[in-house]
Amino acid sequence: MVTEKKKYPPVRKALKKYYGYDSFRPGQPELIKALLDGRDVLGIMPTGAGKSVCYQIPAIFMPGITLVISPLISLMKDQVAQLNQARIPAAFLNSSLSAAQYRKALAFAAQNRYKIIYVAPERLATPQFLEFATKANISMIAVDEAHCVSQWGQNFRPHYLDIAQFAAALPKRPVMAAFTATATGPVKSDILKLLDLHDPKILITGFDRPNLYFAVEEPEDKFKAVCDYLEKHPGQSGIIYCLTRADTEEVAQMLCDAGFPCKAYHAGVPIEERSAIQDDFQFDRIPLIAATCAFGMGIDKSNVRFVLHYSMPGSLEAYYQEAGRAGRDGAPAECILFHGPEDYQINKFLIERSNKDSPDQLTRDLSRLHRMYDYCHTDFCLRSFILEYFNEPTSGSCSNCSNCLATWKEVDVTEGAAAVYKLVRELPRPYGKNMLRDLLRGSHGKRITSARLDKMQSFGALQRYDLDAIKELLDGLLTRGFLSRSNDAWQVVSVTPAFDQAIRNKEKITLRQKLQNDAIQDESYLSSFSRLRSPDVSPYVSAMQDMVEKEQKNRPDSTFTLQTAAEEQLYGRLKTKRLKLSRERGLPPYVIFPDATLLLIARNMPLTEEELSQIEGIGAARLENYGKDILNTVRNFLSDLGDGTLTDDDFKSDEDYDDSDD
Ligand code: ADP
Repeated sequence: MVTEKKKYPPVRKALKKYYGYDSFRPGQPELIKALLDGRDVLGIMPTGAGKSVCYQIPAIFMPGITLVISPLISLMKDQVAQLNQARIPAAFLNSSLSAAQYRKALAFAAQNRYKIIYVAPERLATPQFLEFATKANISMIAVDEAHCVSQWGQNFRPHYLDIAQFAAALPKRPVMAAFTATATGPVKSDILKLLDLHDPKILITGFDRPNLYFAVEEPEDKFKAVCDYLEKHPGQSGIIYCLTRADTEEVAQMLCDAGFPCKAYHAGVPIEERSAIQDDFQFDRIPLIAATCAFGMGIDKSNVRFVLHYSMPGSLEAYYQEAGRAGRDGAPAECILFHGPEDYQINKFLIERSNKDSPDQLTRDLSRLHRMYDYCHTDFCLRSFILEYFNEPTSGSCSNCSNCLATWKEVDVTEGAAAVYKLVRELPRPYGKNMLRDLLRGSHGKRITSARLDKMQSFGALQRYDLDAIKELLDGLLTRGFLSRSNDAWQVVSVTPAFDQAIRNKEKITLRQKLQNDAIQDESYLSSFSRLRSPDVSPYVSAMQDMVEKEQKNRPDSTFTLQTAAEEQLYGRLKTKRLKLSRERGLPPYVIFPDATLLLIARNMPLTEEELSQIEGIGAARLENYGKDILNTVRNFLSDLGDGTLTDDDFKSDEDYDDSDD
């Protein structure tokens, strides 16, 4: 039997023509194919994976209109600007339009002038929109940020619940495509059920973001650490996430005073001011935003080069979402978490306050906070820690996080661990970490003496250690899984079967300690485990003799890493050119060119349109709109290098080029 081969439209050509990309990212071809086959889809892909392309390319080839339901106005504006840049007719319908503009856009839509229309969920049920929709030929409904349909998600939007009914009420039910970066089970099943997806193709791609570098630091002075970082990353766009509104104000002010222009963004800033700040950031008019978690979902800026956290957030879900706003363009970006001893208590306070009447939620939130805390204290590969948390397979080592790149020393803590074990077993009832620390230290606080805990055998077993050393020991045993904490408000500590087994078998217990660069050179460096008070107790110090130094690995080389000073300089010029074009055209710089594309141009230094068109990110529209400007910038740069390899004769049709500003 001969099966007829299905003919698909030239989607790969469209990817190059409209977006300038040569190959699809993981998951994109499967979802595009399913949609073109007329099948519903659910795409669960991380931020920056390229979800938009999955519905935009089918939309180009489908006969009718694609409606994209999107929760945020700024996101729609940006997407529509990018589509129109690529010459895909698109518009948005939301409350930012005046009544007259809205009517006009709807009339144009009714005339089939747009292929893609972005619409806020609140619009769907309005009579005006319903009238249009029932008459229009709607081929597909794409639901962006589909987790908003679920109360389990972080951004529940009640009007997302209207979508299924809206689709069913149309004369012909369109193909439905749902996209989200939230993969938890309850959210996924809510999306399937509440959007009423029919036998959908479900595609979940890996959550890893290889271009992101992860680091955790506990600096003595957080503000200084941030300034040091900014000093080393001039001219880059970044977000500094803070826990509280007051922190954002303070950090922004201090940064401005220190010469780093920065604005504060939080839910208490008036809405017009907030959107002005967001605009300034999108257009690279201000490089830095100090923000609470209120700054986020609408941020489509692809060239955020770093996300710093000024405090530990409340969960890894929140952290990965916020950190994930870096490097959406695929070029290298950094996510650095600065945490301090007070962060845990502040988060705990916030969680307890918001869950006063909901003990189950309190337990869930506290358990999330504990994993976040563990992330800050683990010696494990940070990327693997995150991915394992989200049930993703990992390699256990990524060579692109502060733990994989650090030099570690193995510290024998068998004796201290045994004392902890004995204490926990001896206690009449379980206690929290701070109580254990005080008992091990032998402090005679009222809680201890009134419960007669000072009479226990293990009382004061580690009195030779300083407080920090005991704290690190307990943290290390917790992150290693020898101790566990309850997830209620008390967080009492108990020993795990692994600890039982290790003690029973008299195993040597070691913890790893990260060495600072300067300490690596310094033989006399003593770890905090060995910050002992009296000189006679040296088991920890001597154990350090056995320590294994790990070779410092190099970060993976990347196509986007500029290799020479000339490339750096050209990149600078290209950015200046981009800013000029952005101002002339009223479009955010990253819409003109993603950072990734500029980096590739700087590395490859194309001299002809042909060469330029080979660069990833250069599609037909970009080539036509900006090709001459870019070639001109490269050409002038090379001439300025003065190496004599280029003369005017090397370039034809000189008059085509405008080099006035280079
Ligand atoms: P998401 O919605 O999944 O967060 P976007 O759709 O905003 O991601 O895409 C993130 C970035 O990746 C955008 O700059 C987009 O142009 C780019 N991108 C999408 N598909 C590809 C591809 N196949 N090759 C290279 N870059 C791509």
